[in-house]
Amino acid sequence: MTTTNVHRFTSRKSRPCPMCKKPSTEAFHPFCTKRCADVDLGKWLGGNYAIPAVEPADDFGAEAAELAQIETLKTNDQI
Ligand SMILES: [Zn+2]
Repeated sequence: MTTTNVHRFTSRKSRPCPMCKKPSTEAFHPFCTKRCADVDLGKWLGGNYAIPAVEPADDFGAEAAELAQIETLKTNDQI
């Protein structure tokens, strides 16, 4: 029996979306959006993988750097 393992797994509070690894939302748990839920549903129904559009990790880093730069500019402007 793997009851203990299952319980441990399901009791973890916020798992990332299995489709795109973004934080899941209550409304579409365990997915983040209806789109990801639909992709998963379609995958099971159609029997073939639909690849969700996922931003590359590099883009997130670039965006964060850009935002940090803007914040820095704002701060400088205020001084
Ligand atoms: Zn998702």
